[in-house]
Amino acid sequence: MSKHEFTNIRVPIEKDNPSIQRLEFKCIKCGACKMVCTNEIGVCGTYDLAKTNDVPVCIYCGQCANVCPVDAITEKVEAYEVLDAINDPEKIVIVNTSPSVRAALGEEFGMPDGSFVEGKMVALLRKLGVDYVLDTSFAADLTIMEEASELIERITEGKMPLPQFTSCCPAWVKFAEIYYPEMLPHISTAKSPIGMQGPTVKTYFAKKMGIDPKKIVNVALTPCTAKKFEIRREEMCAAGKYLGIDGLRDMDHVITTRELAMLAKDANIDFAALEDSPYDKLMGESTGAAKIFGNTGGVMEAAIRTAYAYITKEPVPADLFSLEPVRGLEGIKEATVKIKDLEVKVAVVYGTANARKLIEKIKAGKADYHFVEVMTCPGGCIGGGGQPKDREYKGDALRAKRIASLYNNDKEMRVRLSHENQELMELYKEFYGKPLSELAEKMLHTSYHDCSELLGGGAAAAEKATDAMKKYRCKICGYIYEGDELPSGFTCPVCGKGAEFFEEI
Ligand code: SF4
Repeated sequence: MSKHEFTNIRVPIEKDNPSIQRLEFKCIKCGACKMVCTNEIGVCGTYDLAKTNDVPVCIYCGQCANVCPVDAITEKVEAYEVLDAINDPEKIVIVNTSPSVRAALGEEFGMPDGSFVEGKMVALLRKLGVDYVLDTSFAADLTIMEEASELIERITEGKMPLPQFTSCCPAWVKFAEIYYPEMLPHISTAKSPIGMQGPTVKTYFAKKMGIDPKKIVNVALTPCTAKKFEIRREEMCAAGKYLGIDGLRDMDHVITTRELAMLAKDANIDFAALEDSPYDKLMGESTGAAKIFGNTGGVMEAAIRTAYAYITKEPVPADLFSLEPVRGLEGIKEATVKIKDLEVKVAVVYGTANARKLIEKIKAGKADYHFVEVMTCPGGCIGGGGQPKDREYKGDALRAKRIASLYNNDKEMRVRLSHENQELMELYKEFYGKPLSELAEKMLHTSYHDCSELLGGGAAAAEKATDAMKKYRCKICGYIYEGDELPSGFTCPVCGKGAEFFEEI
């Protein structure tokens, strides 16, 4: 018998899940978690607990937490461990901020949707006692340098297969490892911005600042619950290997936008009244290209700008600073971008259920691309599992405001190309040498693993099981029933309507 209860209406969550947890006493069995995991994420309903040793499949995106109306599912909170580190005089706490946090944090304090609060966010972290505030957007520029260089190699030298898929979303990477292990050679080996920021802080930054890396508590402030899983991946200890320090992790904690807001509220800090504060030097500079990493289409647009400059050695044309075909809130977008004589075919996807559709098309030979961006969350990281909740069910209207906030910031930036980030140029000059150098490969790139065994019987068995399983959606409330057919006399456990209100999906 399964230890997971009410799986007909909600997602099962394992106790040792590194990203999310469920507080049983709060759960009202509304079915919202199961709906998002089935429809948008494409995980729930694709496996059978009886075959997985009763262990649920999870890609850690936290969308179930984000839609839970009563906060029964939440992120695994690390904020108090970070606070303990801040209060420990022996520790140096460094917080690195992801691009999309600054476009949503203000909402937690009653500010208009999508308010751009970068300066106040930095000030808040300083007020809480953080020693250094750095910008993960710096490493977003670094990711573009490495990922665009890799794309050019794939296109011009054909060493690795096309299309190249982006790798900065750990939930998407996990999804591919579980469901599409045959596609892993297509995923860029470049680590995510947090995956690059971590080892660079504990090596380059620590050395330049004269800090003992063992004293650093490196914290990522993110919109993302999957990052809590990502920093704990075995491979994420490049700094320790480089420095010869056993057990040294690249990043020590991940806190979400909501967790930071909680710390501010606990400390009675008046967020709106905070004076803007700048980032610390060395790894605090970023470009407009890095900021748009936080929304769907942003990584693609940023990479195309730099790839154009690298391939043509000419100034980037104006239309690439507003690449309209990859902008907007459609789940799957396609475009062909001309780089001189080269026609680069690209696709941008959010929602891993959409990614599944696109991959099936590619596998069936019905689509071919050079470069594909996949983000798990709706609208990209601005809609991440750790972002302020959409309590008024505004949906795309809210996401559009956060996205506009990042595009506006890009437009206002003096530097909008990753390869023109001056602190980044210094980093290459003094430490990594050049993109894809031997050291860059060691510290900034990674490899992936076939995890299809998590489905119990491998991907092939799961594919069959998924195909065989019928689903019916309640037209009134959206509840999803899985099974060959609706039992006689069936009523919806959420809204109480009968079988006649269900449609097969
Ligand atoms: Fe995390 Fe962004 Fe991926 Fe969502 S889209 S799981 S927030 S990296």
